[in-house]
Order: sequence, then structure tokens, then C-alpha cells
Amino acid sequence: MGNPRVIYWFRTDLRLHDSPALKAALELNPEAFWPIWTWDPHYVYRARVGTNRWQFLLDCQNDLSSSITKLNKNSKLFLMREAPQTLFPKLFKAWKITHLVFEKDTDAYARDRDAEVKRAAEEAGVEVIIRSGRTLWDSDELAKKNHGKPTMSISQVQAAGPKIGKIPKPIPAPKSLPDPGEITLEFEQEPPEAKPDFNGSSRSQGDRSYERISGPSGDFAVPTMEELGFPAATSPHHGGETIALEMLDKIIANEKYTATFEKPNTAPTAFEPQATTLLSPHLHFGSLSVREFYWRVQGVVDNYTGTASQPPVSLTGQIFFRDMYFGAQAELGYSFGQTLYNSHCRFIPWHLPSKVDHETKLVTGDYHIDSPQAEEWFQRWKYGRTGFPWIDALMRQLRQEGWIHHLGRHAVACFLTRGGCYISWERGAEVFEEWLIDHETACNAGNWQWLSCTAFFAQFYRCYSPVAFPKKWDKEGKFVKRYVPELNELDSKYIYEPWKAPIADQKRAGVRIQGDGKVEQEGIYPKSMFDFNERRNICIDGMKKAYKIGLYGNDAKVIDGTWRKLFEGDAEGPTEGNTFVDAMGEEAGDDEKVQSDDDNREDRNGAVEEDERGAKEAGGENNEGGKRETKRKRGQGTLDAHVKISKR
Ligand SMILES: Cc1cc2nc3c(=O)[nH]c(=O)nc-3n(C[C@H](O)[C@H](O)[C@H](O)COP(=O)(O)OP(=O)(O)OC[C@H]3O[C@@H](n4cnc5c(N)ncnc54)[C@H](O)[C@@H]3O)c2cc1C
Repeated sequence: MGNPRVIYWFRTDLRLHDSPALKAALELNPEAFWPIWTWDPHYVYRARVGTNRWQFLLDCQNDLSSSITKLNKNSKLFLMREAPQTLFPKLFKAWKITHLVFEKDTDAYARDRDAEVKRAAEEAGVEVIIRSGRTLWDSDELAKKNHGKPTMSISQVQAAGPKIGKIPKPIPAPKSLPDPGEITLEFEQEPPEAKPDFNGSSRSQGDRSYERISGPSGDFAVPTMEELGFPAATSPHHGGETIALEMLDKIIANEKYTATFEKPNTAPTAFEPQATTLLSPHLHFGSLSVREFYWRVQGVVDNYTGTASQPPVSLTGQIFFRDMYFGAQAELGYSFGQTLYNSHCRFIPWHLPSKVDHETKLVTGDYHIDSPQAEEWFQRWKYGRTGFPWIDALMRQLRQEGWIHHLGRHAVACFLTRGGCYISWERGAEVFEEWLIDHETACNAGNWQWLSCTAFFAQFYRCYSPVAFPKKWDKEGKFVKRYVPELNELDSKYIYEPWKAPIADQKRAGVRIQGDGKVEQEGIYPKSMFDFNERRNICIDGMKKAYKIGLYGNDAKVIDGTWRKLFEGDAEGPTEGNTFVDAMGEEAGDDEKVQSDDDNREDRNGAVEEDERGAKEAGGENNEGGKRETKRKRGQGTLDAHVKISKR
């Protein structure tokens, strides 16, 4: 091998500070060094990504590119518009590459992709160097030290992590970067698989994502929203390492806030500023290193003279949750994002269940409409028209800005699933996948399972009231008034229950509470879509029954549809008939033919169950006296499984 000619492949690490992989690449002392990003059709077409997250990504890429150019005026982030699986074999040859270096990614799709790229590198005689840097501890190692099992509780993370070693200290950003080699490309672009396009409905104009490998101007520039066919983003939150480090500096400068942070005491109704750090999108894109965050916070805690908060409610505790979900996903792979075939996810006969391809055992990205009523509730939930102002304000904030507070996420997730609509958590996770700027496959699937009491957490009798819970934080309803401006003038005493406002008060406030909100009309806010207390009781009864029956996603009865016999038609969900086809009628296609998966069953005893505490339902709880469940192990899955289906 001659002098190193190195491609550095940016993916989950859009930063220069604290990057173990970048350090490893530069230690090769490259003769030529290409910092690149591959515009992967999987994320462009098969992941649900709303305009706000696209813009955040472009912000991060532009910021990184100019930081690279500051270190070497001949260099920048070279955007290559082709799938990495087909691009790399050609690049290896064209640029006479000796090394490919990147940060480890344990998401299920990423593992498959990287395995393919590694095979191509091996064939081309290119050495591949991979370093872990996305989590506090390497997620595979974490699961290994957790007796080879998915991490299902914070205490497991706290026990397994230190067995790997101390959380690595941050590495300074490089002070210079080598020149790239030649960048002209003689080869043809392999056109992407553009169908199905999960983001098609968001595109307002022609999609020019793949016009040429080097982009429409031929200069490998970061794409624009127009090129991608998207309208302008609406979020006030912006991406990039520069902004992320400034935000962190500001947080760290406030020693009291940093050292005494307790998640349960942060208000989900606070805005400008929000009550928590809002660093999650930066951690997702890697514009902020999680280890940098951890050690800067720990430094403040160590020097704090007062009483500092402790994990899990403290700031460092929050990122243990992140590592927990990554550790669970690393072990469970694709099954992490779905109920069916998931050995760790409880089976509840939710409405609007996912369609599953029983050959691949993966969800198809589509779902069964078993109940038109549930579908209507789902659409009203998604677009913030439920008639419950607290829920609607949160969903509108999510759609507009791409971020909502953790307890706000709790409230809407509980409402959609076990505390109101009895709709599959997978539907909610898909909406979050599209609209969150911090969407992280592991954290999203894991938290939805937590909130729906299908894994990690079991106290289903504790529901969030859409009235009492927000009242505790914001009596005046300032948060609601910001995101549901129709209710701006309504007397605060009706702000969480506007249907109770007498007509005279409605008139005075310039709003009428009527209809189902299907057609947006000025001065009209919809009536609440159901009686919450009634629905909560129905849901709790359904959950009690499902818990008693005790099925998990990979039980044979769940897969062959005979679970219905156990529910005897008295639970929510598609319970008629004995098989999936019986229940779904015409809707169940050939792909619903079932296979038994009994062999897949794992021993489900062992994992500890604990209260997140950071998420304790303070206020508005409904304790129906359900019994705390015996110790069990539970799991989760990814949504990016769909690519498998689309590839077939
Ligand atoms: C239904 C649901 C879905 C969620 N989906 C996501 C998601 O897709 N991506 C995501 O990053 N978080 C997700 N979360 C977790 C959490 O709500 C966000 O991480 C947090 O609100 C981000 O705001 P922050 O940066 O101000 O958090 P802070 O309170 O300031 O916490 C600091 C960091 O700790 C991590 N963190 C905190 N709480 C959690 C948690 N419960 N799980 C995992 N990491 C956590 C985040 O990286 C966060 O940036 C979800 C929570 C729920 C209930």
C-alpha cells in the first residue's frame, strides 16, 4: 500500500470536535483526504423526513463544509449524489483509495448498508476503519456487557457501561486538514430507486436530488430545499456544529441550571425559552458530540458547591436513556420498530395495526383501517384538531417547529394509545418520524413503546389527563394560546375544556366550539372528539385484559391471528373472526398469509422494570390500582425496515 489516500465518510457525525473516527483518519497522515457525504436514496425516499428535518440536515452540512474550508481552502464537504452501495466501488477505483473511515452506526438499515460497503472495500483492497462515537458507550459493547441482552432499564446501562470502561473524554477538533486529491469523476451515476417515495406528499415541486453525482452545478455542493423539491422549513430551530457548541456553552455557563436539572420539574408548557436543553437534534445529527455534552455537564456537577441532581433525573441521566435505547436497538435490530415478530413488545389489539409482510417479517409501511372511527381520530390527532386544546397545541407545535418537550411527547403518545384512542403506537411513531427534527430511530421506537406500556414501562393505569396535567404547569393556558390562536381570547378557566364555555363566553372570545374541525374555518374550534374519562376507562379495561392474556409480538397466536379467540370480542381492536384475514376481510392480501414464529421466542424473564422518573406523570394521573407487573424483559424495533420491502 502506498501513501494513504483516505475517504472520510460523514454520516452520524456532522462535526469536527470530538470525533474518534476523524482522529483515526487523520492519524493515517493521508496524502489525499476527501471528506464526503453520500446522498443515500434510503433516507431521501424511504425514511419519513419532514421539511424541518431536511433543513436542519442542510444547515449542519453547510456549517461543517465551511468549517472544513476554514481548515483547508481546497477542501469542503463533498456531497456525492448516489447510493453508497453503488458509489463506493467506483470511487475506490477512480481515486485510488487506500482507506475508508467512518463513525459506527448501529441502526438496522445502516448495519446492512455498511456490511455491503465493507464487502466492496475488501474486494477493492481498501482498509475500512470504524470508530464508535455516537453514544456514551459503544452500543454493541453495552449489550454485550448486559449479558448479551438488550438494555431495557437505566440501571442496566449504569451497571453495564462502566464494565466497558470510563466514558471517553472528548477529543479536540483538528487544526488542519490535508488536501483532497482529484475530484473529477469519469463514471456514470447509478440512478436511485425513487419509488416508493415516502416524502412525495411534502414535495411541492420537481425532485432534482439526483440530477448528477456532483449536483446541478457540478460542484458537489450541499443541496438546497428547492433542489429536493421541498417548500421552505417552518422551524425556528437551526442546525450546525457552530450553533450547537454555542448552545452548549450557554447551558454550561448557567451552573445552577446544569447541576440541579431535574427532568420532572421542567415545564412542558414553557417556550422561548423551552425548559430543557433542545440539544436533541444536534445529538441526532452529531453536530454535538454526546461525550462532549456529558463531560462538560459532569465538569459543572463536580465543581458545584450546592446539591447536584443525580441520574436518572439529572442532565447526564437524560443521555443514559439515549444509550439505553441504542443498546436495546443494537441487540434487537429491525424488529425493534414494530410489534409483530418483536419478542420484547407486548401485543395489544390496537386499532390501525401495521401491515406486515410475513415473508420478511417486516412492516410494509402501510396499515389496516379496521375502524373508520379510529382513522378519523388518528387524523384529528395528527393535525391538531382533537378538540382537546392541550393535545392540539402540542401536535401543532410539533408540525410547525419539529420539537416538543419530553412530557408533551408523553401526553400526546399516551392520548393516542392507551389513554384515549387505543390506536397502535406504530402510527404515532411514524408521525414523529416525519415531523421531529430530532427523530432518532432508537429513541423514537423505544419511547413510544414506553408510553404505550408495551415495553420498558407497565403502569398503564396511570394516564395523562389532557385537562388536569397541563393545568398544573400553565393555569393561564399561554402555551395553548400560542399554538391554538383560535382560543386566544377565551377565558382561561375554559382553556383546557372549551366545550364547557357558555355561548356568551364563546361569542365574547370570537370563537365557536363546534364541528369536527375537518374544514378549517376562522373563528371555529372543534368540539372534543370524545369524552376523555369514558375513553380512558375503556382503554384501561382493554389494557387490563391484554396484560392478563400476556401475548408478545412474536407469539404464534399473534402471528396466526388466533389471539382473537382469547379476547372474545370484548377488547378494543379488530377482534372479529379468528384469523387476520377474517378480521381484515378484503384488506388482507396474500402477504398476510401467516407463518408461526414460535422458535423465535426468547426467555422473557430477567429485565428489571423501573420508573423513568424523568417522566413521572405529575398531576392529572388516574391511578386505577392496577398491579405492578412482575419482572419482564421487553424490546423495541426500527422504522427503517421498510427499505427491505421496497428493495424486493
Ligand atoms: C413518544 C416519544 C418519542 C420520542 N422520540 C425521540 C426521538 O425521536 N429522538 C430523541 O432524541 N428523543 C426522543 N424522545 C425523547 C425525549 O423526548 C427527547 O430526547 C427530548 O425531549 C429532547 O429534548 P432536549 O434535548 O431538550 O432534552 P433534555 O431534557 O435536555 O435531555 C438532554 C438529552 O438527553 C437525551 N434524552 C432525554 N430524554 C430522553 C429519552 N427519554 N430518550 C432518549 N433520549 C433522551 C436527548 O438526547 C436530549 O437531547 C421521545 C420521547 C417520547 C415520549
